[in-house]
Amino acid sequence: MPELPEVETVRRGLAALITGAKITDVDVPYPKVINGDVPDFVAQVKGATFKHFDRRGKYLLFRLDNGKTIVSHLRMEGQYSVEPAGADWHKHSEIIFHLADERTLMYNDTRRFGRMTIATTGEEAKVVPTLAKLGPEPTEADLKLDYMVEIFHKSHRMVKPFLLDQTKIAGLGNIYTDEVLWQTKIHPKTLTDDLSEAQLAELRENIIEEIKKAIAGHGTTVHSFSNVFGQVGQFQNQLDVYGRAGKPCLRCETTLEKIKVAQRGTTFCPHCQVEVR
Ligand SMILES: [Zn+2]
Repeated sequence: MPELPEVETVRRGLAALITGAKITDVDVPYPKVINGDVPDFVAQVKGATFKHFDRRGKYLLFRLDNGKTIVSHLRMEGQYSVEPAGADWHKHSEIIFHLADERTLMYNDTRRFGRMTIATTGEEAKVVPTLAKLGPEPTEADLKLDYMVEIFHKSHRMVKPFLLDQTKIAGLGNIYTDEVLWQTKIHPKTLTDDLSEAQLAELRENIIEEIKKAIAGHGTTVHSFSNVFGQVGQFQNQLDVYGRAGKPCLRCETTLEKIKVAQRGTTFCPHCQVEVR
């Protein structure tokens, strides 16, 4: 599943390729991709120009010049591709935006879980309520230590699912959560209120750094992620624990283990990340 760095990579690619492009027509071979009425969606985007591209957590926000915003969530395997004039649709193309310069923007999704919603710019949360509930972005500016201490200490949940909860911190998924817990030497089942302020300060720094580095590496390619240029992310080469179960810990050489924590596969080092009871 694309996490914040992968979605940010898609956003940057779209901004570079189709900012200023005008939508002349839309085909929707898979109508379920749109939340709400399909003809209404088409009517609201047809004739509009892509003005700029924002992101909030794992949501993409396509700003149009007519006061509308397309809210897009890639879910498991969604991908965008910008195609030259005359290009065939992909097997899993769900929506095709025809552009005035004859290129097409295609949204392709083998798993068919991704969704798109049209909203009035500034009122996106009225139609996508989860947007209003997202926690802060994992950045130096937005993710304050005071906030971290407050939310972790007033809760009594396992740290792994807590970090995956988009209402606490936006953008983290299974990959980066396993990475930052390993870096901070925290067992994934540790209860949030058992973490000291010093541990939370270190965890916060690691989250911010990891996301920054993953964006710089154009995200991680696990199954199918590629950016709009058709390039795959490179950050998988820099992962320390995710996908390395059965291999030696890069710090202590203990064999990394994979367990389920709150239904999610979780890789950790049983020596470095000791469970506190
Ligand atoms: Zn270790």
